[in-house]
Amino acid sequence: MSDIDLSGSPYETLDPRFDALVNSNARLERLATGCRWAEGPAYFPAGRFLVWSDIPNDRILRWDESDGHVSEFRSPAGYTNGHTVDREGRLVSCEHLARRVTRTEIDGTITVLADRYQGQRLNSPNDVVVRSDGSVWFTDPSYGIDHDYEGRRQEREVDGCHVYRIDPDTMEVARVTQDFDRPNGLAFSPDESRLYIADSGAPRHIRAFDVVDGRTLSGGEVFAVCDAGIFDGFRFDEAGRLWTSAGDGVHCFEPDGTLIGKIRVPETVANVCFGGPHRNRLFITATTSVYAVYLLLRGARTF
Ligand code: MG
Repeated sequence: MSDIDLSGSPYETLDPRFDALVNSNARLERLATGCRWAEGPAYFPAGRFLVWSDIPNDRILRWDESDGHVSEFRSPAGYTNGHTVDREGRLVSCEHLARRVTRTEIDGTITVLADRYQGQRLNSPNDVVVRSDGSVWFTDPSYGIDHDYEGRRQEREVDGCHVYRIDPDTMEVARVTQDFDRPNGLAFSPDESRLYIADSGAPRHIRAFDVVDGRTLSGGEVFAVCDAGIFDGFRFDEAGRLWTSAGDGVHCFEPDGTLIGKIRVPETVANVCFGGPHRNRLFITATTSVYAVYLLLRGARTF
């Protein structure tokens, strides 16, 4: 990918509202490359660095915002996939190999938050978000146990691919959805009243749920259907717009579900997150590389 040309405008406006969100002078930048499948970006404001997973190479990489240096953060890494930063500034990770969700504590030790549901091993947790009440919500498709590329081929134990919530007080793992094929990315709306979940199986779309009492979900109508590849991971900006990965780049949806524009990326995008000291930079993990672009908005405080 050393020959890619990022000198042109990456923006594709589908609705005039999109023009107010992008700086026509700001170009897509490639911050790192050399991965096999880059996923799970998470930005640490206190340290001004980004971590992400290179899943098939079984490592977590780190990009230092102060000088652009890229280094290995952890390897082997248990074939991690999605990451997030919780409200205490700790890294929360989905691990394919050990089929679990873990938290890297401030002292560097790793705590297992969930690896089973009602005594049965999870499939391969894929993406994770932490609500402001400390509850941890994650998706559990089977990509990490279906073959040996993004983990290790293993038998399924739970009956399907579902979404789960870890209670912050009891650590009990509760199932919150029953009707997904391959639940994948997920994110709370800025006010945390709704949870959005992508299905990267069939059909390929993002659904929106109401969060009831901070614990259960209701509704689940289709919010957006993917017109290029699949929706994988996504995040919200401060105004409640949804910025999601897709096959041809990043798609931006208004809160009412209107697709207003795209940021074209030269590789297939798996996930995004907002970062930088002002949360106005969108980091994009895309196949072999990590890209970034400055936008005229800020990401939501939900991570
Ligand atoms: Mg994913």
